Amino acid sequence: MRAAVLREHGEPLDVTEVPDPTCDPDGVVVEVEACGICRSDWHSWMGHGEWADDAVPAGQILGHEPAGRVVEVGDRVETIREGDRVALPFNLACGSCGYCQTGHGNVCTGDHPHALGFEPSAQGAFAELVHLPSADYNAIQLPEDVSPTDVAALGCRFMTAYNALDARAGLRAGQWVAVHGCGGVGLSAIQVANVLGARVVAVDLGADAVVDGSAEDPVDAIRGLTDGGAHVSLDALGVAETCRNSVRSVRPRGAHVQVGLTTEAEQGNVSLPTDWMTRHEVSFLGARGMPPTNADDLLSLLASDAVDPGSLVTKTVSLDEVPERLAAMTDYDTVGVEVMVP
Ligand SMILES: [Zn+2]
Ligand SMILES: [Zn+2]
Repeated sequence: MRAAVLREHGEPLDVTEVPDPTCDPDGVVVEVEACGICRSDWHSWMGHGEWADDAVPAGQILGHEPAGRVVEVGDRVETIREGDRVALPFNLACGSCGYCQTGHGNVCTGDHPHALGFEPSAQGAFAELVHLPSADYNAIQLPEDVSPTDVAALGCRFMTAYNALDARAGLRAGQWVAVHGCGGVGLSAIQVANVLGARVVAVDLGADAVVDGSAEDPVDAIRGLTDGGAHVSLDALGVAETCRNSVRSVRPRGAHVQVGLTTEAEQGNVSLPTDWMTRHEVSFLGARGMPPTNADDLLSLLASDAVDPGSLVTKTVSLDEVPERLAAMTDYDTVGVEVMVP
């Protein structure tokens, strides 16, 4: 099959012929119909994560937001059949550890690959075929009438935004949520917040209220608009300034949710106003992907037309164009969500 392979951090991905994936007894092989291109791919490509011993090694096929059709099924798989349409979560789970068994497969600690497209034992989906391990637990079954680009746009961003605002922060109707960072996950968070009935103030985005972060102090502006601070604030970007701004945007007893991973400047560490957070009982929450077992909630939202991830898709590109589109992210030259269709 053809795939886009990481040869050296920061050098264009090598689109080339590689061996087809082999199917585990508990896995399936999926023919990729579409795969979102995400800032997490860019971080991997740049070699970020070295500070946490988490850099993606050379030889990796990136791509972690695929949807496609099952073309091969392992002997032990019970619920997935050849021809089924599925989405693959990037957060892979073993299905049997304590976290998986209690509905938190997104933080699985089992002896198993944990991140599709980020580790050698889980090669990604900038390719014609991709393997999904523990398919009974991980596969998200899709209705026939959903377009693959919509699902790819749903990608890690929609799932992450939904899990972050609903399950992690407990955002409720009528509450204020602030969204910092205008990439795919930020835009997804706005749609999810709208569905949950929350009021949205976004920095540099279309929302109920918009703050121009370059022209005014976003924290002051958000505090003014929300009568004392948001109930929940989300940093979708992961730079020190947006993280701290997000924390400082919440009201007493509010919650900040960190979704964006940091860059080389922060190396995974951001200093925070901890005395102020303690004084006001402000929570700092991490959020990663979504437990695969919660996918039905998200799919019913999709079926209701309440959210429209396809509206975030600004460009579809071929496998051959993926290296160039990743490079465009270096200068924040991309808008909305771009999707690879091989
Ligand atoms: Zn597990
Ligand atoms: Zn992603």
